[in-house]
Amino acid sequence: MQPSPQLYLRQMEVGPMENFVYLIGDAKSREALVVDPAWQVDSILKAASADGMRVTGALISHHHYDHTNGIEELLDATDGKVYVNKHDAPFLKLARPNLVKVDHDEEIRVGEIRIRPLHTPGHTPGSQCFSVGNHLVSGDTLFIKGCGRCDLPGGDPEEMYYTLTQKLMRMDDDTILLPGHNYAEKPQSTLGEEKRENPFLKTAATSLRDFLHLRMGRRPPQN
Ligand SMILES: [Zn+2]
Repeated sequence: MQPSPQLYLRQMEVGPMENFVYLIGDAKSREALVVDPAWQVDSILKAASADGMRVTGALISHHHYDHTNGIEELLDATDGKVYVNKHDAPFLKLARPNLVKVDHDEEIRVGEIRIRPLHTPGHTPGSQCFSVGNHLVSGDTLFIKGCGRCDLPGGDPEEMYYTLTQKLMRMDDDTILLPGHNYAEKPQSTLGEEKRENPFLKTAATSLRDFLHLRMGRRPPQN
C-alpha cells in the first residue's frame, strides 16, 4: 500500500513506562484517533489540536493498564468509539457503551483513511497491530530489536511465534515499524531492518523451539 498524502500520523512518548501514543488521522477532514490513550490525555489532546486535528476516538493495541488508563478521560473529553480486539474486550471494564469489538482485518476508517487491525496474539490474547499506509503500529507485539513478553496472564509464546512468522514477517521490508514503547535507541524502524537484526525475528525464522526458549528463558523488563 502506498503512503497517502492525506495521512496524519504523530508519535508521542507519555508516562513513566516510556509508552508511545500515536495520533492517526485524515489531514483533510482533520479527524484523528488516539492509539492507546494513557497517562497524559490532556497533552495528547493538546498536541492534536495544535496540529488542527480533532480526536474522535481511540484504537487499543491491547488491554494492559499502561496502554489504556486514559480511556475514561478521553471519553470525558470526546465521546467517541474505542476499538479493541474482541479477545481483549472482556479485560476492559468501561462504564460506558463506547467499546467496539473488532476482528482481524476488519477495516476501521478515520475520515477517508483506512486502518487495518491485525490480530496478533502472544503478548495478550487480543493484541492487535494497526496497519495504515506503509506503517505498522505494533503495540507490545513487536519492538525494535525486541518483542512483547509472553509470561504475563494471557500471554502465549507459541501464539507470538505464529504472529511473528505468519503475519508480521510476511509484511513488506519497507513497512515502518512504530512500537508501543520507547525501548530502543531510536523511535522507529522498518520491518526489513528488524528481520535482519531483531533476535526474536531471526530466531523465529529458523526454529519454534529456539524461539520459545529465547522468549521464555529469561526475564525481560516489565511492560
Ligand atoms: Zn503490554
